[in-house]
Amino acid sequence: MLITYVIIFLYGIIIGSFLNVCIYRIPKKESIVTVRSHCMACGYQLKWYDLIPVFSFVFLRGRCRKCGEKVSMQYPLIELANGVLWVLTFAICGFRMESLLYCLMISGLLVLSVIDARTLEIPFGINVYLLVLGGIREILGGCTLFSLAADLFLVSGFLMLLYILTKGKGIGGGDVKLMVAAGALLGWKLTVLSLFFGCLYGSVIHIFRMKCMHAGRVLAMGPYLSMGMVTAAWFGNTIITWYLGFFTI
Ligand SMILES: [Zn+2]
Repeated sequence: MLITYVIIFLYGIIIGSFLNVCIYRIPKKESIVTVRSHCMACGYQLKWYDLIPVFSFVFLRGRCRKCGEKVSMQYPLIELANGVLWVLTFAICGFRMESLLYCLMISGLLVLSVIDARTLEIPFGINVYLLVLGGIREILGGCTLFSLAADLFLVSGFLMLLYILTKGKGIGGGDVKLMVAAGALLGWKLTVLSLFFGCLYGSVIHIFRMKCMHAGRVLAMGPYLSMGMVTAAWFGNTIITWYLGFFTI
């Protein structure tokens, strides 16, 4: 059992290093596949042994092999985060097809969150990627036209209304699209829960950041909605069962 988790972790950190590439290159509209990885300072083209997730960073003590320039802590952190989140997903949700979809979802959300926090923009391509994953889940789950429409538009439709009413000040267009993808990935019930937790995390954490870290008023919702989606994917069904328990005598 332990060995299975070790393998999942290793896959997680390998994909995590690809996520770093996406985080840096998508906002700059650079290709994520064709350009070889290089040092940001001296341009040294990284060899395969410089690209081993986490380990290369530790071995080189976070510096470029050629020029000694510091390498951002973000690289090993994203790699580790992805590995740990993948292991947790399988540990919490079990060894099912859905867990694999959730892992791929979480990796997309990691990229989306970092980019949204930095640029206040959710890249359209990542929402499309998440929607494709959601499409796979809908097809595997044998959706009907009615259930599909509910999944896609129940929560996002409500947010769309909010978007129109506040003229885009209350919520961003990227957030609305993210909730379309969330609907396909999680179903409408868990998406309601994602939105609830997303708003909860957003208000609590952002108030804390404004008070203690003097963050601006502008709030990137992407990271919080993402955290809400992960909470819903991991614990949503347990929470819903627990909550509905209050209504049965
Ligand atoms: Zn260098």
